[in-house]
Amino acid sequence: MNISKGELDTLLQNVQNAFVTINTYPVSKRVALMRTIANEIEALGPELIETARAESNLPEARLTGEKGRTIFQWRSYADAVEKGYSLDASIDTANPDRTPPKPDIRKTNVALGPVAVFGASNFPFAFSTAGGDTASAIAAGCPVVVKAHPGHPKTSQIMADAISRGVEKSGFPAGTFSHVFCETNEEAQALISHPVIKAVGFTGSNRGGLALVEIANKRPEPIPVFAEMGSINPVFLFSGKLQTAAAELAKQYAGSLTLGVGQFCTNPGLVIAEQGAGLDQFTESLNEDILKALPAPMLNAGIAKGYTSNREKVIGLAGVQVLSAATTEAAEGQGAATVATVSGVDFLINDDLQTEVFGPFALIVKCKDANEVFAVTEKLHGQLTATLLATGDDLAANAELVALIQNKCGRIIFNNFPTGVEVCKSMHHGGPFPSSSNAQYTSVGPDAIKRFTRPLSFQNWPDEFLPEELQNANPLGIWRTVDNEVGNGAVGY
Ligand code: NAP
Repeated sequence: MNISKGELDTLLQNVQNAFVTINTYPVSKRVALMRTIANEIEALGPELIETARAESNLPEARLTGEKGRTIFQWRSYADAVEKGYSLDASIDTANPDRTPPKPDIRKTNVALGPVAVFGASNFPFAFSTAGGDTASAIAAGCPVVVKAHPGHPKTSQIMADAISRGVEKSGFPAGTFSHVFCETNEEAQALISHPVIKAVGFTGSNRGGLALVEIANKRPEPIPVFAEMGSINPVFLFSGKLQTAAAELAKQYAGSLTLGVGQFCTNPGLVIAEQGAGLDQFTESLNEDILKALPAPMLNAGIAKGYTSNREKVIGLAGVQVLSAATTEAAEGQGAATVATVSGVDFLINDDLQTEVFGPFALIVKCKDANEVFAVTEKLHGQLTATLLATGDDLAANAELVALIQNKCGRIIFNNFPTGVEVCKSMHHGGPFPSSSNAQYTSVGPDAIKRFTRPLSFQNWPDEFLPEELQNANPLGIWRTVDNEVGNGAVGY
C-alpha cells in the first residue's frame, strides 16, 4: 500500500470519527453532498475522458456516456434518499389501553458503518472510484474507503479529487471519503480485515470476489461483502420465435455479444436451444455476423490474455466445436469474436463449460429435445440475467421452464438483450450465487443503498429526538407505513 500499517490505522480512525459526526447530520445535508459531488464530476474537463481512454482503451463515446451515467447515479440516489426509499420508515403508535399496553415503536434504516469499495476494470467511472458502490454507501450515510483499481489509477485519482472537493464544499469531515492505492492483494486485504470497516462493495471477477468474502467471514466480527461477480447470462431461443425471426435475432444477438468487445458482466455468453431448422438458421446468420466482426483492443493486456486463454480452455473441452471466429487476425491486446457449439449431453457432464470467458465469446448448447433444455437449465449456476427470445405462445407452452429460469437469475428479459443495465428503482443487478455473493441485493439502482444500512427500532422515543423520517409531523414528507397503512401524512394530527 502507498500507506503503512500505522498510517492505515490513523486513516481509519479518521474514517470512524467521520462516521460518528455525519450520523448527526440531517438527511438534507447528505442529499446536498451527493448533488455537490455530482456537480464536481460533471465539471471535470476533457482530461477525465482522455486519461480514461489512455488507461482503458475504451472509446470516447462510450466514456462520455459512462460519465453521464455516473453523474446520474449520484443524482438519482440523492433523489431516492430525499424521497426516503432506502429508509423504509415505519411507525406503530402506542396503545396504552391494550393489555398489556402496546409501546410506541418506530423503525428506520441507519448507516451500517464505514465501507470499503473495490471497483472493476471495465467501468472506470460507473463501477469504480466514483461508481455505484461509493454513491450508494455515501447515500446510506457511510464513509467510504476506495481501493483504487490498478487498471486506471490516474482516472481514479481525478474522480477521487472531485469527490473530496464535494466533501469539503459540503462541510463534511475529510474522513467521509478516502482513496488508497494497494501494491499487493495482502495490503488490500488488510483494509477489509480492519475492525473499523463494516461492509465491502466489490465488482469484478469471481476469484477476487470470493477471496474477499472469505477474509470478511474469517474476521472476529464477520462483515457482509456485496460482490457482483461474473456471469454467462444464458439466452434461451424458443421455436415459435425462431420460426419467424431467426436471422434478425442472430444479428441482434451478435451486436450484444460483441458490444464493448464483450467486456460486460452482462455479456450473453451462452445460448440454449432445441436442435432444428430454426436453430440452424440462427447459427448460419450468426456465423455471417461473427465472421465480419473486427477484433478490437481490450481493456488491458492482462484482460486480452485472459480472454484468449479462457476461450482456448473452453474450446479444448470435450465435445466443443468452433462454429465461427472473426476472420481478421487479432493483434496483441485485441479480442476476436468467437462462437462455439456443444451438445446438451456434453454440457450436462462438464461444469467447466460454465466458465466465464470475459470477452466476445459465446457457447451454443444444442439440445436434442425440450427435456434436455430443462435438464441443462437445472444445471446452470446462478446468473445476473437470463434472456428469453420467445413468443407469448412459447412462454405459455413452457411455464415450468420459465419458472426454473426465474430461479436462476436476477433479471429475466423478454425479446431484448441484457448488456445495458438501466439505473432505476426497479432494476435488480445481482443474482443467485455465484453471480453475486448475496442474491437479495442489487448493486445498480437506488435499492443498492439498502446494502449499506441496517434497521434500528426506536421505542417510546421523544418525538423531537427521533430521526426526521420518524417524527410525527413527517418533516421530510416521505411515504411511511403508519399503523400498517402506507401514507405520506403526519401522525396524530
Ligand atoms: P478483479 O480482477 O476481480 O479486480 C477487481 C478489484 O479487486 C481490483 O481492485 C483488484 O485488485 C481487487 N482484487 C482482486 N482479487 C483480490 C484479492 N484476492 N485480494 C484483494 N483484492 C483483490 O476484476 P476486474 O479487474 O474488473 O476484471 C474483470 C472481471 O470482473 C470479469 O470477470 C468480469 O466478469 C467481472 N465484472 C463483473 C461485473 C459485475 O457487475 N458483476 C462488472 C464488471 C466486471 P488487483 O487488480 O490489484 O488484484
